[in-house]
Amino acid sequence: MTGGLEGYDAVAEANAQKSVLAIHWSRICERLKVEVGEVEYRTWLRQITVGPVDEDEITLYLPTRFLRDWVRGQYGDRLGTLWNAEVPAIRRVELQVARPDAAPVESVGEDAPTPDIPVAHARPPALAAAPAPVEEPRQAEVRSDLAAPLDPRFTFDTFVVGKPNEFAYACARRVAERPSSPGFNPLFLYGGVGLGKTHLMHAIGAELLREGRVSVAYMSAEKFMYRFIAAIRSQSTMEFKEQLRSVDVLMIDDLQFLIGKDNTQEEFFHTFNALVDAGRQIVVSADKSPSDLSGLEDRLRTRLGCGMVADIHATTFELRISILEAKATASGVMVPAKVLEFLAHKITSNVRELEGALNRLIAHANLFGRPVTLEATQDVLHDILKAHDRRVTIEEIQRKVAEHWNIRLTDMSSARRARAVARPRQVAMYLAKQLTSRSLPEIGRKFGNRDHTTVMHAVSRVTELMEQDPAFAEDVELLRRMLES
Ligand code: ADP
Ligand code: MG
Repeated sequence: MTGGLEGYDAVAEANAQKSVLAIHWSRICERLKVEVGEVEYRTWLRQITVGPVDEDEITLYLPTRFLRDWVRGQYGDRLGTLWNAEVPAIRRVELQVARPDAAPVESVGEDAPTPDIPVAHARPPALAAAPAPVEEPRQAEVRSDLAAPLDPRFTFDTFVVGKPNEFAYACARRVAERPSSPGFNPLFLYGGVGLGKTHLMHAIGAELLREGRVSVAYMSAEKFMYRFIAAIRSQSTMEFKEQLRSVDVLMIDDLQFLIGKDNTQEEFFHTFNALVDAGRQIVVSADKSPSDLSGLEDRLRTRLGCGMVADIHATTFELRISILEAKATASGVMVPAKVLEFLAHKITSNVRELEGALNRLIAHANLFGRPVTLEATQDVLHDILKAHDRRVTIEEIQRKVAEHWNIRLTDMSSARRARAVARPRQVAMYLAKQLTSRSLPEIGRKFGNRDHTTVMHAVSRVTELMEQDPAFAEDVELLRRMLES
């Protein structure tokens, strides 16, 4: 066998692959046109060119980074689903920036595996050396050498606001509008995992970049540490410091990571002071409030608490419903209200899991072209739901609720109708409906053989009261959380 022949085979094969892919692609385009409409298609999708397939991944090219990010955010999942439906072996779609007529240009992000490149490079050398470098929009350049790219899906527009997060949202908006205002610097966002801290930080970044006025650096505390260590190793700490201190807005995510990392903490403290003193904005997130972050140096903790501290609370049922509604609408898949309610009842841990469950449902619906139903949901999400199955008993609910309002347990099934016992009883019925899989008649029976319409009335009454009376809503949520844990 000669090398020449081998080369010929490879070329022939590549050409054959190309033309087959082109046929699939034109079919996908036809579908996309119908799905998104001619205008959307021409604005965003027509500019895609098809690249090679590598194992289960196909590469698609777009002419600019902005287009790439947009298409990835808006159509990434859909493109994946459509390709998979056309060619089952393709399971992933990779979107890259390249001129249609040139070799692809590697995207530049902090996730690129370049740990040994000194951080002081104003631009990673990879880009300068790449063929056909692409003119990028101005905002994409902003500190991309220093920080992580922002996820284009995480904007204020896509953030659903409700009681548990409205304060944090308002603070984030305020900082995006007027960075470095007194009283809002630093902005310290805290809350449990998957509740939207990172989303809000990216939204601040996106908003500021949209205005094109300032330079923004966003990175996780972990990344901050790695950058710092890399700078020490390559003896470029001065450059690292200068770079950090030249930004207008510095955002550090998941600060709790710095606990126990004394040197990095020290460095962060100095950066922090230098920036605040120079009138720059700092935004920090953590899983706890500054005062609860034991293990952080006291002086840092004190300074972190000096600006605005905003917490994101656990989600309420209402917020979960709103989020699901927004995400279902955005996906274009029709998800019945019953299914959304079911999910909001069952998956209460955090938004990330909720979103994951919904995405899986939507992917299934798209893949198999079947409507989303309650049965299909239980089937598709079998494993997730099992993990979230709380197995709370009605007896437990009655006990906890009676304790909470200081009434006798027997009053849960008594005929007494005084408000002081009737209201807690209604709450217990409401929670029994939410937290167990018992039917209305079954629940009624456990409450002194009451009729199912009584339970129905209790559920709607409690729902109504929760909307009108935040203190009452908080009580009920507290009980729910206690029972769930
Ligand atoms: P955290 O950083 O607090 O752990 P993230 O910001 O990563 O959480 O949020 C997890 C996921 O949930 C993200 O996909 C995010 O977009 C989504 N999410 C969280 N809160 C909301 C919200 N209020 N509205 C819409 N999406 C949300
Ligand atoms: Mg996060």
